[in-house]
Parts: sequence; C-alpha cells; structure tokens
Amino acid sequence: MSAKIIDGKKVSLSVRERLKKETETFKKETGVTPGLAVVLVGNDPASAVYVRNKHRACEEIGFYSEVYELPEDTKEDEVLSLLARLNGDPKIHGILVQLPLPKQIDPDKVILSIKPEKDVDAFHPENVGRIMLGNYHFLPCTPAGVMTLLDAYGIDPAGKDCVVVGRSNIVGKPQALLLLEKNATVTVCHSRTADLASHTKRADIIVVAVGKPRFLKADMVKPGAVVIDVGINRLPDGKLCGDADFEPISEIASAITPVPGGVGPMTITMLMKNTLTAAKESVR
Ligand code: NDP
Repeated sequence: MSAKIIDGKKVSLSVRERLKKETETFKKETGVTPGLAVVLVGNDPASAVYVRNKHRACEEIGFYSEVYELPEDTKEDEVLSLLARLNGDPKIHGILVQLPLPKQIDPDKVILSIKPEKDVDAFHPENVGRIMLGNYHFLPCTPAGVMTLLDAYGIDPAGKDCVVVGRSNIVGKPQALLLLEKNATVTVCHSRTADLASHTKRADIIVVAVGKPRFLKADMVKPGAVVIDVGINRLPDGKLCGDADFEPISEIASAITPVPGGVGPMTITMLMKNTLTAAKESVR
C-alpha cells in the first residue's frame, strides 16, 4: 500500500481536545455553558446511535445537553412547538433534529423553524445562503470535517482539480462550495453525469458521497490523487464500508480516508465546534 491513511479519529481527538480547552476558558470568562439540544423522532437504530454519540461528545467537552426521544407517531405540530420552546431557551445554543424524520413530518418545515443562530447543522436557508456568500458562522458538519482533515494533512486544495461525486444538500453541494472557497477548481458529478470516470480520472482530489459500497474504483482514480470517502454503507455481513474501493485505490492514491475512521468521526466533532461558536455568538 502506498497511500497515506488520513486518520479521522486522530484529527478528531485533537480538535476535541482543543474545543474542550476553549470551552473551559469560555465558561470561566462568561459563566455560560454551551448547550446543545438533540431531537430524535422515531426508532431508526442508526439515528439512535448517532444521537447517543452526540450526547456523549457533549459531556466529554463540557457542554450542557438535552436529548428528546419522541415516538415514531409524533405529530409535526408537536415537533414544531418543541423547537419553538428550544429557540427561546437561553440554556440551549444549538438545536439539531436528527434526520431522516418519519413521513408525517416535513423536514423542510422543521429546518425552517429552527432559529438560524441555533441551527448548528447549518441546514437553514439563511445559513445555506451565508455559506454561498462566504459570510457564515457555521459550516455543515460533514463537509467542514472534510476540509479540516485536508488541512490537518497539509493538503491545500488551491489550484487543484477537485471532483465531488454527489450533490446532496448536506454533503455534495456545500462540499463543492467549501473547496471553491479554498480556491480549488471544482467539478460536481451526480447520477446524470456522462462518463463519470473521465472527470474523476483527472482529479487531484476526489470527494465521493454517493451512498453505494465501493462505487469509486481504482481505474477511476489518477495515480497520486487524494481520495476522501464520505460514504457509510452497511454490508450484508454487518461491516461498514465506504463509497471508495479502499484496498486497490490505496495502492495508487497518495492519501485516502478509511471507513470507518475517516470522515465519520469528524462530523460530530464539527457539530461540537458549531455549538461552541453558537454559544460564543450568543454573548457577543
Ligand atoms: P444522497 O443519497 O442524498 O445523495 C447521493 C448523491 O450521489 C446524489 O447526488 C446522487 O445523484 C449521487 N449518485 C447516486 N448514484 C450515482 C452514480 N451512479 N453516479 C454518480 N453519482 C451518483 O446521499 P448523502 O449525500 O446524504 O450521503 C452520501 C453518503 O455519505 C451516504 O453513504 C451517507 O451515509 C454518507 N454520509 C456520511 C456522513 C458522515 O458523517 N461521514 C454524513 C452524511 C452522509 P443525483 O443527485 O443525481 O441523484
């Protein structure tokens, strides 16, 4: 294997250590404890694990946190009134509603009803617009985690050909904007892209966020490229794998993120960073 393994666990740990210290100082200086409320509706087992991990991360860093676990048949109005209460609660600086939501609840309405200052997922249209304009408080957690990993490994996107595969609102689109902000030349590919490999093969940096196990093959990657794998796919044997065909790609890439242990650990860490930012903004 020749590729350097980009260790998301290690980077995540060091960012969390820094956040912990910053939080201690912030609490001493202001008397304010950053607070995060996480709302989970329904019984999705993966979501329940994410919510538990978010709660644990808050405790480790020294935040106050509240977790609301609501039943699958919760009505939209009930979620909206909980959010209205949390919007007005001074102990809570960040609000996160775990997606996906049960079908009776419109995710767009939910996202719109979170106060932009407390929208630590950065999904509210105001925050999305701010990212577009480069004038933001929060960045969406997964793409921000990718940028932090690149930075930690000294990989500067400036002037590079970057290809983002996937154009979702939570990963692909904001990822493209963040790379653009760092002066990359960015191509965004999706399911209607003709000859995907012709794009990925000339990329210096590929970010793949498709949601298909081992979708990106070694013959789609230029030797020496950096491959960032956002995908989290569960295989029939229960193991996790990414969207990139890790073993063969790591023979030719210069650096690659593993799954698990790459982008995944960074996402919650960036949520913690956003919550601290929200608390700091609240006392400004
Ligand atoms: P979505 O399903 O919302 O988006 C998938 C994207 O992939 C779409 O834009 C789709 O194109 C594109 N796509 C699908 N098939 C192809 C194809 N054959 N060729 C090219 N593009 C294709 O997924 P998400 O963005 O939410 O998530 C992507 C992956 O990242 C998932 O595995 C998810 O679990 C993981 N994830 C990981 C996170 C982490 O913390 N590490 C956080 C969030 C997600 P089109 O728009 O044309 O349909």
